[in-house]
Amino acid sequence: MEHIAVGLVEGEKVLGSVNVYPEKLDSAEALLSMPAEGIADCIRRQVETVSRGEKIGAIGIGFPGIIRNGVVEDSPNLHQAKGFALQAALSSGLGEKYAGVPVRVFNDADVMAAGIAATHGLLNKLTRVWTLGNGVGFGRYPSSEGIWEGGHSVVTLNPKENFCGCGGRGHLEGILGRRSMRLRFLDLEPEEVLENARTGDTRCAEFVSLCHRALAAATATSIHMEGPGMFFITGPDVKFIDIALLDRLLHEMVKMSPLQGSRFEVIPTTDEMGIVGAAVNAQHAALK
Ligand SMILES: [Zn+2]
Repeated sequence: MEHIAVGLVEGEKVLGSVNVYPEKLDSAEALLSMPAEGIADCIRRQVETVSRGEKIGAIGIGFPGIIRNGVVEDSPNLHQAKGFALQAALSSGLGEKYAGVPVRVFNDADVMAAGIAATHGLLNKLTRVWTLGNGVGFGRYPSSEGIWEGGHSVVTLNPKENFCGCGGRGHLEGILGRRSMRLRFLDLEPEEVLENARTGDTRCAEFVSLCHRALAAATATSIHMEGPGMFFITGPDVKFIDIALLDRLLHEMVKMSPLQGSRFEVIPTTDEMGIVGAAVNAQHAALK
């Protein structure tokens, strides 16, 4: 959402350095106000720069939102991209040298799941990931048909829980997303809420507990639908998460014996991980 990172991948590794746009972090708002065509153009230029004339097997893109058949059907945090045929725009815009190279677009959390699976030797397993930031992303590998908007899982029936950016009530993102935290605590930044909870402020402590219950609940739903497994947690806001507490809450919510054995692991978010995942997914999709 804040920047575009592009790299050249061979196997499960990024070759050379990663190109980032915008180069200066203080211009992080640049993409938010850029028209969808401009974003596509920007991605295309970065791809051509990074490829340095090498032969390219496939081009994979991770993009925030609901992506189907190469079209951004919705993107709550980059509204201008709604309905944009990103895959077609990139394919047709690539220079002659790359004509015919398959381009595939995936949800950004899905490419993160693919990147984690590829770099952890888990390509033959179901791998799920929560990405915590302004929104809450849910990614799964292998990439498959479906919507998988796990961040909008309903985790409470309390009608007052209406802070989710999508407008839906009771959603995980409406509790754990940074944007929603700011709406809930108008006078406090998310970091201050966490700090206050640590020093014994009741309202903040109750909220941090609610965050953990909400994430455990959405995870439990995923386990009840698709079975147990590894759940990675990544993103700028993993600092809010206490893994031991999350494990304990999950065990209270998932009791059937065949569904036991899930684990959480926090891992740092890196551009490289997403880039590897986009490439792995694109190659698999192009070979189908
Ligand atoms: Zn929502």
